[in-house]
Formats: sequence, structure tokens, C-alpha cells
Amino acid sequence: MADSPIIASGTVTTLLGLTEPQMVRFVRAQDWPDYRAQQILRWLYQRRARALTDMTDLPMHDRMALSPSTKVGRSAQTTILSSQDGTRKLLLMLDDGLTIEAVLIPDEDRLTLCVSTQVGCMLDCGFCLTGRMGLKRNLKLHEIIDQILTAQDLLSSDEHITNLVFMGMGEPLANVESLKAAVTALTNKPWGLGWSRRRLTVSTAGLASRLPEVAALGVNLAISLNATTEEQRRALMPAASEIASLKSLLAACRRYPLAPRQRLTFEYVLLADVNDHAADARRLIQLLRAMRCKVNLIPFNEFPGSPFRRPSEQAVLRFQSILRDAGLDAFVRKSRGRDVLGACGQLGELPSNRPSLTLTPIETRC
Ligand code: SF4
Repeated sequence: MADSPIIASGTVTTLLGLTEPQMVRFVRAQDWPDYRAQQILRWLYQRRARALTDMTDLPMHDRMALSPSTKVGRSAQTTILSSQDGTRKLLLMLDDGLTIEAVLIPDEDRLTLCVSTQVGCMLDCGFCLTGRMGLKRNLKLHEIIDQILTAQDLLSSDEHITNLVFMGMGEPLANVESLKAAVTALTNKPWGLGWSRRRLTVSTAGLASRLPEVAALGVNLAISLNATTEEQRRALMPAASEIASLKSLLAACRRYPLAPRQRLTFEYVLLADVNDHAADARRLIQLLRAMRCKVNLIPFNEFPGSPFRRPSEQAVLRFQSILRDAGLDAFVRKSRGRDVLGACGQLGELPSNRPSLTLTPIETRC
């Protein structure tokens, strides 16, 4: 994260947007002792403070003195859409009026949180609603963290987030500095959330040159592949193909340093009569030959105006069994939250000239 000046006169400092070194500089600028940096970070991450005044072990006069020039940086308004299958989609309003989405997905003994890293996306994968929005901007550190803390606020006492995937709106590796700072905060034990890196997964559409940076973070890597020929990938994911060809992406995956027992995940969105043929499955087997990996098959989640169709269950199972017969671990991802447009590829604004779904928020929190 850029080591920018923390406080400039007349500006407001967003505490949740500070990395630990920046927080140390911040407390030194107040002539406070260094230990106060971790004290504030613990309030932000472990106690989910929403205001400086909540931090009751800071002297009252210090809190009062800082109030005009600092804010915590939690979103002011969250709308929650609840799916019939238990999935909860969180719509968080940012300071500039833009909205981002995070999705809480329950599945047997897991509760996965899918987090956004950008507002919109610069890539234009043809099967993804977010791609239709174009890129509005990168999310800042506090806007990524706020999704996680807000999701935690919603949980009942017997729930906890078991897995976190950077797989929501945007391409995480196009916002890599904020991503790294978020992973540091999520995994830091003394003041952060103390999560294991094994619980975190970063998904990329194929920014091959940045894969070593994911490896350095020690988190899991998922690659959104979706095609088995250069031509097919160019048609489905034109911008991602421009950044890295299928060949160079797979070469980067082969070089990826996996820890013992770790493996890559390849995501493959199945589009009816486009990439769900037996020949596609056979090419996929060849492409992934001898890689330590698994394949997640995602039957396309339709959205209004999308040019693709969801394949039949029979076609999905046939594709999976071809992969499995060749010894590839292939799983069909259950589609969760489709009724609230919370499933894979469904996050983002519906184009205004398209027919829209009516979504009824169950709750709006301010
Ligand atoms: S699939 Fe991912 S990378 Fe592609 S447009 Fe959607 S959000 Fe962006």
C-alpha cells in the first residue's frame, strides 16, 4: 500500500484505511505512544467499532480532539437481500454514493463470504453482469474490510465465516495493493481477525504476471478459465485474453509454487451449447494434465439481457463425469442466491435498458 502522508491539513483520516505502519505514524503524529496503534486497530477489527467515541479505553480528551479530523470508515448504509436458500446479499453504499456487493453463502458446515475489490470491472467477460458496468474505481482498503465487518455484524451467535473468497465484483489482482493490505489485516493475530491464510481464496480472470504476488500472500488461488481454446477464450473473455493468452496463463499456473497439500482451483462457467460439449471437456483434461488442481463447474447463472443460457443438469453431469473419468477432481458448484442476483456472475447493476428484476430488501441498516 502506498506510504502516503496520513494527515494533511483540512483532510479527514479514515482509520480503517490505515495499514499498521501507517497507524503507527498516525499515533506518533498525535504525540501518542506507539502501543496505541495496535489498541486502535484492535477496536477497528476485533471489536468492530463504528466511531472513535466507541473506543472507551482512549482518553476522552484525545477522542474529542481527534473527532473532527478522523472517521472510522464503515459504510453508513447496508441493504440486505435474503435468498430463499439462505444466501444473503449485502449492498453497501460507499461515501461517493456508489454501491458494492458482498454475498454470504451458507453450505452445510461452511459459511463463505464473497467479497468485492472494485466497483464494476475493467474486464468484460461476456457471462458476467459486473463486466457490463465497466470499471468505476478500485476499492480502498477500508471499503474491502467494511464488507467483512458488516457481514460479521449480521451473523447470529452460532454462525461464523469459515471461508472468504475475493470473487465478488472486480478483478482482485487489478487492485493488488489494497488486496495485500486486506489479507494482512485478515490474518494478523495481535490486532486483526487472525484467520488462517488457507481460509482465503483470491480469484483471477487471468492476470498471469501477478500470480507470484498471490503466491507470496500464501492464500489459495482460483483461476477463472471458462474456455479451452484461445479463440473461445477471446470470445468469452476478450479483455482477459488480451492481458494473457490461454497458453501463457496456463504456463504461469504450472510455475505457481504450491505448498504441500495445496492445489489450484480452476473455475469453469458452463454455457449451454458454447463450452459444455464433450470435446470441451476432453480439451480441458489435456490443458490441466499433471497439474495439482481441481475444477469447479459453475452452471451459468442467467441475468436479464444475458446472451447465454444455463445448460441442463444432464449436460452439466455429463461434462463432470468426463473430467472425473480422466482422474480430474471436478465439482459442480451449487448456484446460491440466484433469486437475489447474488450468484456467481450476477453481481452488479442491471443495464438500464434491460428488463429488471424486482428485488425486495428485507432490511436496510443505517
Ligand atoms: S467475471 Fe470477474 S473479471 Fe470477468 S467481468 Fe466479471 S468480475 Fe470482472
